[in-house]
Amino acid sequence: MGSNLFDLTGRIALVTGSSRGIGKELAAGLADAGATIVLHGRNTQTLAATTAEFAKRFGPERIFSYAFDVTDARAVASNIAAIEAEVGPIRILVNNAGIQYRVPLLELEVADWQRVLDTNLTSAFLVGREAARGMLERGEGKIINICSVQTDLARPTIAAYTAAKGGLRNLTRAMTAEWASAGLQINGIAPGYIHTEMTQNLVDDETFNSWILGRTPAGRWGTVADLAGPAVWLASDGSNYVNGQTIFIDGGMTVVV
Ligand code: NAP
Repeated sequence: MGSNLFDLTGRIALVTGSSRGIGKELAAGLADAGATIVLHGRNTQTLAATTAEFAKRFGPERIFSYAFDVTDARAVASNIAAIEAEVGPIRILVNNAGIQYRVPLLELEVADWQRVLDTNLTSAFLVGREAARGMLERGEGKIINICSVQTDLARPTIAAYTAAKGGLRNLTRAMTAEWASAGLQINGIAPGYIHTEMTQNLVDDETFNSWILGRTPAGRWGTVADLAGPAVWLASDGSNYVNGQTIFIDGGMTVVV
């Protein structure tokens, strides 16, 4: 173990869904801590733009990108194998790719339920399983599953997302039960309400915004920067005896009524 517990220099980190949004900021946080980054998404144009931006910021020698659908078992297996052959052993995996879909439960079609579960939950099983094969052989690896306050709390119109994110916490525990003894640490990060481009309309909605501010002990929205520190910690040697936990980064929202 080095003198800096949080140094990720030389470690390869795959962050799914890092072409934009929270995943992009998590990838930047890991890169700031020294990691070599594999950026990921489906849209190749967005991915190329983020890759160019990261290459300029962190140096092209430690920025790579792979485009594949995390719900496609075959594509996941072949791309993880390609990353390990072309970039090197994946030491850190952040299962971040996810989607939201809002509709009342009685109007929720089976296909939409399935799509939300596939993207938010099955994806972590598929990518986690393939990445873990090498990690288990090498006897080390960090997997971080991006959950949500909806891992614990429900709201109307997002039943499939809530079910998926709740399942993701238990998948984190299941991975721990099977893989921790081989030297892997698998944990979850559950972000609260984060002010991003995607949530700008909610911030601008006075009623919703004042509900969030009143409902959050910290009295503010989270920022993507708030998530980077915990991600670096869970990816680093500083968390080597943290197993199967889901850390809520929500300004305290889930500890009050
Ligand atoms: P976002 O801005 O919509 O970004 C989603 C990322 O995932 C994109 O890179 C997207 O790229 C990729 N993606 C989506 N479906 C994919 C698929 N089937 N295969 C491969 N890549 C896929 O989302 P975000 O708001 O940053 O959310 C990221 C994660 O944080 C999600 O798991 C979300 O549930 C969680 N979260 C977000 C918030 C929030 O306030 N935003 C709060 C709590 C938790 P392509 O579309 O190009 O594939």
